[in-house]
Amino acid sequence: MRKPLIAGNWKMNTDGAGATALARSISEQSPGYGAVDLLVCPPLCYLKTVSSVLAGGTVMCGAQNMYWEKNGAFTGEVSAAMLLDCGATFVILGHSERRHLMGETDEMVNKKTLAAHAAGLTPIVCVGELLAEREAGKTAEVIRRQSEGSLAGLSEELMAATVIAYEPVWAIGTGKVATPQQAEEVHADLRKLIASRYNAETAERVRILYGGSVKPDNAAELLGQANVDGALVGGASLKADDFLAIAAAGTLLAPDDTKRPAGGT
Ligand code: PEP
Repeated sequence: MRKPLIAGNWKMNTDGAGATALARSISEQSPGYGAVDLLVCPPLCYLKTVSSVLAGGTVMCGAQNMYWEKNGAFTGEVSAAMLLDCGATFVILGHSERRHLMGETDEMVNKKTLAAHAAGLTPIVCVGELLAEREAGKTAEVIRRQSEGSLAGLSEELMAATVIAYEPVWAIGTGKVATPQQAEEVHADLRKLIASRYNAETAERVRILYGGSVKPDNAAELLGQANVDGALVGGASLKADDFLAIAAAGTLLAPDDTKRPAGGT
């Protein structure tokens, strides 16, 4: 069974007091959400504080980026081991804001993905098309290129342990959410791509999250799709009540969801 994962990407928002309060509020209410995995990804400078607030509870902590080298003269970068040291167990990689604002390529995302796994961090690898690419009918081609490039060289086990986030760029922070059918189509394609590169069993184990303007009022329909295994949430993850309302939508679906196969995470 693929356990739904609801991940909050706080991006470059909040401050120390705000991060502590948000983490505390989510953590205190988390016992009611055991059917889903909950993850928050604060800004790097608050990682240690947030992971201390979450310690002993079930809410996990992740980072928003990392560098692929282990150490050395890479000013301003942090390694996977450093993130683990600060309490992270997940790391978001290849977010569209990094791809399009910071110039990250599939090759760079791939190096980060391999380095994250080597250190014991679970990567959440983001892929997604621009509006112009969708309108030109190139969504499938873009998703194939990004996923093959970013996920190259993974063993079967590491592929199964990787989380993919499909985030159409035109839906991130815009309020324009993909329809559940649009999301499901890409998620199903991604699973087929993994099945063709590995096998059906591996593909069935991979969690594929949807991201892009997920809110409490659209979460249930998106999470109800057969191949949507959770959400990567930006704006709505900055309010504990909204984040947990999205988690509640996943919780309601999780227990008797017969569409999701046995085996896997
Ligand atoms: C994101 O940053 O990954 C994201 C999906 O943002 P939002 O939910 O605000 O669209």
